[in-house]
Amino acid sequence: MDRTAVTTEAPKSPWGSGTPAVPACSLTDVMSEQLARQLDEESNAFPALTEPGATLLFPDESPDTTSDLMLAQILQMQFDREFDDQLRREEKKFNGDSKVSISFENYRMVHPYEDSDSSEDEVDWQDTRHDPYRAEKPQATPRKGFTGKGKNITTKHDEVTCGRKNTARMDNFAPEVHVGDGLGMDLKLSNQVFNSLKQHCSSEQRRSARLHEKKEHSTAEQAVDPRTRLLMYKMVNAGVLENINGCISTGKESVVFHADGGSLEEQPIPDEVVLKVFKTTLNEFKNRDRYIKDDYRFIDRFSKLNPRKIIRLWAEKEMHNLTRMKRAEIPCPEVVLLKKHILVMSFIGKDHVPAPKLKDAMLGSEVIKNAYYQVLHMMQQLYQECNLVHADLSEYNMLWHEGKVWLIDVSQSVEPTHPHGLEFLFRDCRNVALQSDVCVCFCLADRGVGEEERGSCSEAREENVPGGV
Ligand code: ADP
Ligand code: MG
Repeated sequence: MDRTAVTTEAPKSPWGSGTPAVPACSLTDVMSEQLARQLDEESNAFPALTEPGATLLFPDESPDTTSDLMLAQILQMQFDREFDDQLRREEKKFNGDSKVSISFENYRMVHPYEDSDSSEDEVDWQDTRHDPYRAEKPQATPRKGFTGKGKNITTKHDEVTCGRKNTARMDNFAPEVHVGDGLGMDLKLSNQVFNSLKQHCSSEQRRSARLHEKKEHSTAEQAVDPRTRLLMYKMVNAGVLENINGCISTGKESVVFHADGGSLEEQPIPDEVVLKVFKTTLNEFKNRDRYIKDDYRFIDRFSKLNPRKIIRLWAEKEMHNLTRMKRAEIPCPEVVLLKKHILVMSFIGKDHVPAPKLKDAMLGSEVIKNAYYQVLHMMQQLYQECNLVHADLSEYNMLWHEGKVWLIDVSQSVEPTHPHGLEFLFRDCRNVALQSDVCVCFCLADRGVGEEERGSCSEAREENVPGGV
């Protein structure tokens, strides 16, 4: 190949003589590595000819472009920074003037360390690690109690210092106390104001605690103390009950709730049930010890159990007595479930309306007579077939439902062999005889009063009693 000298004229720059003429060289020289490097070095000396972005980014350094890797890294950095700039713009647009802003910092491509130059002049870039809402820690006064010297001495009682300290201390008030947002304001709270605020907060706290206590206590009064409530929730959770609706009655020893029956695998549950919750407040049951203490069925366990567990015996006793009565086909609630001191049984009534007590039922004289005979028959069955004495038989513990008298409340019922069994039986008979309208009717009949007047006498009594429950 001929060695042909390649000569080139120096290009005329429209911007004047900024670019020096490239010296003429042979093609072989052009092709040589050495020349290429030399040209590269020369061109680096003139920033105007290099890529603008790279030099602007690294004004102090002259990037080494000999290695491809280095070049790629520089370009990548350039690309990442552009991405971050865009991110900042988007963040700014997203947050607008909102007081609560969302930081996109985690999406940044360039590590803040590498980007330290640019983050300095970016005012909008929020540093999320610094919480601007946190009150500055008040400066502690040194142990000696003052700072400064001579005229400039500041004691710990200094009004301004104390005011600032008090403002910062408001942070320690209970969360429910709204102390406002004094960010950026040099707030000073006088000792007097701070003290009365503090007093108010603590008395408020005490008051709310008292309210809480009272609430807990009052539910315990209604037998639904937290433990009982938990038991009831568990029944609903287990699906035994669909819903617990409301309270039918609160007595001295028990609270009765209406509930919608759920389902049990091995046993059908009526659609409507009642929960008889025996009260866990023990004083009432203390007076009724004799009904259970001397019942030979419970005598062993009674002596061994603590008072709280004895309450469960009452529920258990009612369950056993009801089961006996059901077997003898006496109209009474059917036992569904016993859980500690809660007895679940069928509901006597319809569509959430409980059957009225016999005392409240508005019955005509004929019906009353019929009811009276029903009661006599039930007492007989109870004694002969169930081997039981009700021991609290009255118009209050009999319900009138579907033309029948239903016997309820048999937790205190005992066997006739109970030391007081016959005494209780006598009392039951007297109660039924004296309270019954039928008895009044019979008495009047005995004295020669006719059927019509007897009826009106009975109706007159009905008018004085509230109907239903
Ligand atoms: P206490 O021991 O508090 O007297 P009771 O068993 O007599 O408890 O129930 C109190 C009241 O609750 C009853 O007068 C009755 O109105 C209602 N009640 C109790 N059991 C049922 C039931 N199975 N169905 C409908 N109402 C009931
Ligand atoms: Mg009762």
